[in-house]
Amino acid sequence: MLFRSVADIFERIEGTTKRLEMTEYLVELIKNTPMNVVDKVAYLTTGTVYPPFMGVELGVADKLAMKAIATATATNEEAIQEDYVRSGDLGKTAENTLSKRRTMVLSQRPLTVENVYQTLEKICHAAGSGAQETKIRLLVGLLANATPREARYIIRVSLGKLRLGVADMTFLDALAVAYTGGKEAREVIERAYNFSSDIGYVAKTIAQGGLEAVTRAQISFGRPVKPQLAERLSSLEEILEKLGGKCSAEYKYDGLRIQAQVSPEKVILFSRRQEDVTTQFPDIVEAVSESVTAKEAVVDGECVPIDPDTGDLLPFQVVSQRRGRKYDIEKMIGEVPVVLCLFDVLYVNGEDLTMKPYPERRQKLAEVIKETERVRLAQSIISENPKEIEAFFDKAVQDGMEGLICKSLGSNSVYEAGKRGWAWIKWKRSYRSEMADTVDLVVVGGFAGHGKRAGTYGALLMAAYNPGDEGFDTVCKLGSGFTDEDLAKLPDILKPYLIQHQHPRVNALMKPDYWFIPAKVMELIGDEITLSPLHTCGFGNIRTGSGLAIRFPRLVKFREERAPEDATTVTEILDMYKRQLKQIST
Ligand code: AMP
Repeated sequence: MLFRSVADIFERIEGTTKRLEMTEYLVELIKNTPMNVVDKVAYLTTGTVYPPFMGVELGVADKLAMKAIATATATNEEAIQEDYVRSGDLGKTAENTLSKRRTMVLSQRPLTVENVYQTLEKICHAAGSGAQETKIRLLVGLLANATPREARYIIRVSLGKLRLGVADMTFLDALAVAYTGGKEAREVIERAYNFSSDIGYVAKTIAQGGLEAVTRAQISFGRPVKPQLAERLSSLEEILEKLGGKCSAEYKYDGLRIQAQVSPEKVILFSRRQEDVTTQFPDIVEAVSESVTAKEAVVDGECVPIDPDTGDLLPFQVVSQRRGRKYDIEKMIGEVPVVLCLFDVLYVNGEDLTMKPYPERRQKLAEVIKETERVRLAQSIISENPKEIEAFFDKAVQDGMEGLICKSLGSNSVYEAGKRGWAWIKWKRSYRSEMADTVDLVVVGGFAGHGKRAGTYGALLMAAYNPGDEGFDTVCKLGSGFTDEDLAKLPDILKPYLIQHQHPRVNALMKPDYWFIPAKVMELIGDEITLSPLHTCGFGNIRTGSGLAIRFPRLVKFREERAPEDATTVTEILDMYKRQLKQIST
């Protein structure tokens, strides 16, 4: 397959703001893609070379790309730099530079998708002392044979900045239409995606075996299953009503979500965002292999730090210090031991349990886990008695928990990978007081700081997630609650996401001084939710011309482990607003 046809469609996708049109172009692209490269096209279209959980990066920085463009076009680097200052996009600069060179090229060979993909793979794997030179040489090789338009996309993918705005879900829609003729199959395809976190794998499975193969797709070792998520309600009465009068009430541990995949060969640990965190928790790896009695298992739980002196579970922040640490872990383990509290099992010895109801899974979990000091089963009670559950809640709070997660015991309580559904409902402590709940919001813009805050941000424009259009709708300007240290590091934290224009997935009426790719999530609390004509969250839903805003927002903490799509949704904020109204009127 010629890469030219991929680049042509990328250009059309870039030119549209309509999701329907985008899907149509993707369908055309998929239909024109031979079966053996459909996975590669899927990765490239979503701006990657491998599924994100593999953690393999291209490692191409601006400087390296500029060198490659300069070499491939026999242009001096200053000219490239000047063009970059004007265009703000090295992809465009590559295109501009190649267009000027155009007439001088005699011996070009058209690029194929295989060429491009294999070269990018080699770039990913170039290591050691000569890695930079190898990467440049490989990129030059591609650019030498590229058309200007192809060069634009090759450079953008290399830099990890393709930004076509194609969300994985849009690509799944396109797969459904391309291979089954309509979007009805989307649910089955999405399930396979949620169970593999691998868009290329799903594309290849449907291309080779049709919808039937996708339907049969099971959990596979090495590919993380997206975690099931919980809805929220503020009163136990509502929770019990939703769950049919009876539930399994469990401690809500405040730690890091961990999925452990255990096989005779090895144990792999995945985070809530499907990152492989195995090397960060060697103590958990060891504890899990000791405690899982089955040959193979995939278990789901929360990793919580524990005070070795008192046995008390500690706050999340302590464990978060360990995240991202590649060295020094051995030393840290002694200082901050962690416990894995397990609450679900998805797979045991070749049997996929995800379609079994929760009580059956929980029983199986108890069968395959030998509780140890480091691995425990989540504390739970099965009850239909509100008084009993309330007492259990109080006990959980006393034990340092955030509250409870109440789970459905119904026959349809299957494991819903990647879904936030009503089978799991959280009941957090803050709901009991007059104070508002905390929300998790995404940074989409920034306002320049002045005075004491010169050189950093004065405030951030925060947005809720809108699953309806996969967009981010603004809900407040966040300027309080930051420590001086937080403020000092903000520019560095946000720098990788800085863009020149409003991101296509951001819906905003306000115009901040800076725009960001929606990526960073922060937890914040406010005094109340009010109507506001300045924000797009729930716009027109309560009152024409107004959205919802959070009044007096204050930062609670950075939410490093959250993906932007895990943020509080517009619907949740609308619900909070409505509940608040109820409270006021009673
Ligand atoms: P939240 O992070 O507030 O959306 O709450 C949901 C999270 O609580 C889940 O994603 C888990 O990481 C965590 N959690 C803690 N204890 C449990 C439990 N017993 N069952 C399910 N999730 C739990």
